Amino acid sequence: MIVAESESILDEPVSILKGIGKDTQDELNNMDIYTVEDLINYYPFRYEDCRVKEIVSANHDERVTITGIVQTMPVVSYYGRKKSRLAFKMLTGQHLVSVHLFNQHYLKSKIELNQDLTVTGKWDKNRLSITASSLKLNATSNEKQFEPVYHVKGDISVKNLRRWIQLALEAAKDSINETMPESLLKKYRLADRKTALQQLHFPLSEEDVKQARRRFVYEEFLLFQLKMQALRKTIRENSGGIQQKYDEEILKKFVDGLPFKLTNAQRNVLKDILIDLKSPNRMNRLLQGDVGSGKTVVAAISILASISAGYQTALMAPTEILAEQHVQSLLQFFGEMDIKLELLTSSVKTKARRDILERLASGEIDLIIGTHALIQNDVVFRNLGLVITDEQHRFGVEQRKTLREKGENPDVLFMTATPIPRTLAITAFGEMDVSVMNEMPAGRKEIITKWVKQDQLDEVLKFTQKQIESGRQAYVICPLIEESEKMDYQNAVDVHAQLVHFFQSKIRVGLMHGRLSANEKDEIMRDFAANKIQILVSTTVVEVGVNVPNATCMLVYDAERFGLSQLHQLRGRVGRGEHQSYCILIADPKNEIGVERLTIMTETNDGFVLSERDLQLRGPGDFFGKKQSGIPEFKLGDMVHDFTILEVARQDAAELVNSSEFWSASEYQALRNLLTRSGILEGDKLD
Ligand code: ADP
Ligand code: MG
Repeated sequence: MIVAESESILDEPVSILKGIGKDTQDELNNMDIYTVEDLINYYPFRYEDCRVKEIVSANHDERVTITGIVQTMPVVSYYGRKKSRLAFKMLTGQHLVSVHLFNQHYLKSKIELNQDLTVTGKWDKNRLSITASSLKLNATSNEKQFEPVYHVKGDISVKNLRRWIQLALEAAKDSINETMPESLLKKYRLADRKTALQQLHFPLSEEDVKQARRRFVYEEFLLFQLKMQALRKTIRENSGGIQQKYDEEILKKFVDGLPFKLTNAQRNVLKDILIDLKSPNRMNRLLQGDVGSGKTVVAAISILASISAGYQTALMAPTEILAEQHVQSLLQFFGEMDIKLELLTSSVKTKARRDILERLASGEIDLIIGTHALIQNDVVFRNLGLVITDEQHRFGVEQRKTLREKGENPDVLFMTATPIPRTLAITAFGEMDVSVMNEMPAGRKEIITKWVKQDQLDEVLKFTQKQIESGRQAYVICPLIEESEKMDYQNAVDVHAQLVHFFQSKIRVGLMHGRLSANEKDEIMRDFAANKIQILVSTTVVEVGVNVPNATCMLVYDAERFGLSQLHQLRGRVGRGEHQSYCILIADPKNEIGVERLTIMTETNDGFVLSERDLQLRGPGDFFGKKQSGIPEFKLGDMVHDFTILEVARQDAAELVNSSEFWSASEYQALRNLLTRSGILEGDKLD
């Protein structure tokens, strides 16, 4: 069989096709097209609609195909060197339309008065003219309704590429093998691979395009999900986790002693986590909880469970402020309990650091809290059992892995306060189990969100002043200018100066930005938490996690510069106490998307709803920020629009990976081969 495969025409170089010489071959290689199979698998990214249109329904600048009758004799004018323009008028429906053709003066003799014509070109709605790229001397030609358009490079033209792909398809038509199992094709009534390829490259109708896409998008998503699910299975089962026999009594006592009752969501998530801890499988879990849903106490209980089982634990935060805040929260939660807790950040230096590292290695420290300083090489644990990272999407995929590889396969819990749309969660984090906390602790007041224009700033500041006079506090977040940290800083300084001037000496206004040292930040945060500072002007460094329940006002300057999820995070800094809170977005958005974003913010407090909308408005690439998105690029599939297919593919993949047939039956051989080719089944990853 292997021999037969290597002799397949599919593996032949493109040069075996008629019309492809050495130069063309090089150009195609340049586009990563080497073999006949590569040509066949080179998908169009869009189609040109060549269906004849009523000109009244065409948009300005749209490419249209229309039919009509020639009304004036064509006139040719020459300009420049060898350039010409041919023009005439044509009646289409009720409309007299000017037709222009460039550099095709030789057509002049062919065009006659009262002749039927089909013209394809760009429609200028204002001038009632069409700049034609092709012209056919009759009124029919309806056979090709859609022309595929491919990305091309160098001297390769779309037209030639179409021809070669057609040749390739014809030459290989008896060698095209099915990749999908019969059962799935049947289940979803998907076209077989050969038919679908024909439909994809040379559709005869819109339906063809649709069916071809449906099949290949499903195939693409299924393969991707198979990869993720196989990886997930490996992490859970084959990497030898630890069985943590935690002390239920200690946990129960702790929960009973809390000043509040756990929400149902918190209970459910804890159940998931405790099962994972106890099982010999390795935990690799993503905990998604909206801002304020109470993730910290869930972390505390999980940590306590692991410590009670005799293990060390680590909690990692993206910033020093947050790490320090976790230290405070956990010290508060653990109270008198005998738990050895230390903070390790990059500002812990030399001797203090050495001391902590020694006590970590000896196993004396139960819980270490820190920033990425925790994942440096010289940080060694004696028996690390549980690693929790907070606000996880700010860490890169690599860091995620490094942390997972510390110690003897510790259980890993990732927590994020950015509700990740399901779509993204099952792609970017498809290798993980996901728990969701979509319930707020009882008794919280809805935050009131208002959107105001720049010129209402005075009113806003007066309102803020009233809040402060009644004992509350406020955050003021400054314009975010992504390209320039220096300008962020300058902005914060300016706004701070303005507010100091506005409030005179009645109110203390603090300033927080990324250029302050950890100590300075810490001091300011402490002063704010103690209400020594009433207004905190800040860049987005307070975006995640900070907890000052007395703060009830969140003012965001130039709010249109922030993404929805980011605004939601900022808003989550207020509404944490018993008082009514407000989020005031100051913005003069310049486009409709901006207007829509701000409107949505005023309409919902639900982070999951917002994140879905954010994804739709910004697209998957921008959602996490480009660098660490970890989101694959699909050839055809679109995670937002083809979400239903993605979801179905995920379920199918999970079922397949956990069934024994998938790993043995011949029906799945082709899929298994594709997985192997993608590298996921290599080496020791899976038996
Ligand atoms: P986040 O999920 O944003 O990290 P926190 O863990 O900071 O939220 O919790 C926000 C606040 O809600 C904290 O003051 C915390 O003590 C409190 N809290 C957590 N769980 C509950 C609960 N079940 N009932 C009441 N308050 C709670
Ligand atoms: Mg938190």
